[in-house]
Amino acid sequence: MNQPEIQVGIMAEPTIQFELKGNYQLPDGCSGIKFSVEIRGEDLWLTDESGHTQKANEFKFGSKSSDASFLLKDVTIGINFHWEQKQDQEFRGSLKLIIEDGKVRGVNVVPLEEYLRSVISSEMSATSSPELLKAHAVISRSWLMAQIVKSKKIETEQTNYQATIETADERIRWYDREDHTLFDVCADDHCQRYQGITKIISDKANEAIDATFGEFLMYDNNICDARFSKCCGGVSENFENAWEPVYHPYLSKIVDSEEAATTCVDLRREDEAEHWIRTSPNAFCNTTDQQVLSQVLPDFDQKTQDFYRWQVSYSQTELSTLIHERTGIDFGDIISMEAISRGHSGRIIKLKITGSACTKIIGKELEIRRALSTSHLYSSAFVIDHLDIENGVPQKFVLTGAGWGHGVGLCQIGAAVMGEKGYSYQEILQHYFRDSELVKQY
Ligand SMILES: [Zn+2]
Ligand SMILES: [Zn+2]
Repeated sequence: MNQPEIQVGIMAEPTIQFELKGNYQLPDGCSGIKFSVEIRGEDLWLTDESGHTQKANEFKFGSKSSDASFLLKDVTIGINFHWEQKQDQEFRGSLKLIIEDGKVRGVNVVPLEEYLRSVISSEMSATSSPELLKAHAVISRSWLMAQIVKSKKIETEQTNYQATIETADERIRWYDREDHTLFDVCADDHCQRYQGITKIISDKANEAIDATFGEFLMYDNNICDARFSKCCGGVSENFENAWEPVYHPYLSKIVDSEEAATTCVDLRREDEAEHWIRTSPNAFCNTTDQQVLSQVLPDFDQKTQDFYRWQVSYSQTELSTLIHERTGIDFGDIISMEAISRGHSGRIIKLKITGSACTKIIGKELEIRRALSTSHLYSSAFVIDHLDIENGVPQKFVLTGAGWGHGVGLCQIGAAVMGEKGYSYQEILQHYFRDSELVKQY
């Protein structure tokens, strides 16, 4: 394999303005370094500094040297977050301008490793241990290539991808990242946050990329779809319990501790899940070490530290209103909530909600987390106390839970702790992605 070039969708606007810095192959007939492209009818119109305009359905500015870069004006970042804002951003590699839904889409064509340097700098804290950064570099690289391979496969096989099973009694859904069709990944948190060289690439990120250059996590000759979440809660979850029903051996249950070999818990059993969630067993991710947490949690997340074990309470009115709003189903008063099936991490896959007006089973984990919180409940690994029962109707509910996120694959908090304890990145990856192999592909 040669190092692939990937296509990153940066921005989509009616008009895009940009400036070249360095040696670029320009489209025939234009000159200068400042350009703007706008959409008019069915075409893209390119205007250069001298005012010369020309139309086409695609323009490409090909990078002719490794240090050439281009500056995109007014890129919107943090889309749909409270900190959404516009910023000029600078990128290495080539710029492609294409048409997407009546807008001009700027696409950065960039070598994979160059892309990763930026992603690791953006997504990881500079205080992270070198081994954690290397583990993340391998995961980001593998995840990205696995997505590209998967989209190509879905395209060629024309598979009809189904992610909802709805009957009168059940609503079982899973939410995977929707694929992009005109480029490989976007630059926002939807895929991986990418700001090119706008933000200085940290020395630590560079070292992590150089040390793992071209290394992929492989299983059975395929690149692993290397998932990760914030905190598994002590045991990781199987892929098929969160998403489509396909078993991936390298994305199946691991006990997140040094004593893994002697810890034998089956959290699919209600009694064991109950005991596990209500206690705080040893695990790599069972930590309150600020230094370690700050490596993985962005600043605005650091106030939330009760993620290994957490608690949320609702009154009857709060809960019944919330579930009605979030699911669109009117259950009336909520009489009971019961775990019908749990995965290996204790995460509920199917939750039966019995109301005075209707009864329904919902799943999988993200559907449950969305139904029971105005944003997302930390995880679906929880047990429920039905309290202050009046005429068979509980007036209060307390959810006691474990972990943060889907819990499949690498546990970020656990991996950060392993890095601090002196485990190598190979050991960290081996721990979370069982029986996977690390293979240098180029
Ligand atoms: Zn995306
Ligand atoms: Zn963990």
